[in-house]
Amino acid sequence: MDPLEVSKQPHWISKPYFRLSEVAKESITQNGEQTFREKQKQKLAETAQAQGISMKKARKRERRQLCGKRVLEIKRAKFPPCSRCAQPAGQNCSLERCKKCCRFKCKHEKLDCKAHRYIFSENAEIAENC
Ligand SMILES: [Zn+2]
Ligand SMILES: [Zn+2]
Repeated sequence: MDPLEVSKQPHWISKPYFRLSEVAKESITQNGEQTFREKQKQKLAETAQAQGISMKKARKRERRQLCGKRVLEIKRAKFPPCSRCAQPAGQNCSLERCKKCCRFKCKHEKLDCKAHRYIFSENAEIAENC
């Protein structure tokens, strides 16, 4: 019996248990890689033809696009905009504001912000007076 042929059968068909020999494993991975690479190559060729550029340029552009997306996502995650002035807000700020706006709001409404270390609540004043 050919181990490759048996391994390709669907799982619901009962088949004898055996370890795939090293030769069989290699042939499976090689086939998979080839099809994956061929697909990538075909995709690149299609984009290159559509944009009228060479395969090399198409590959470079694809990489750059991927890099650009990653950078944008990281920036957004790190700096949510301030809810008042839309500048980058402080990380973990309880009011989701930048430093200036956070201080203004904390001072006038007697609030605390651990991220910016502003303590204007009444409790803090009492503690200071004691
Ligand atoms: Zn602000
Ligand atoms: Zn704050």
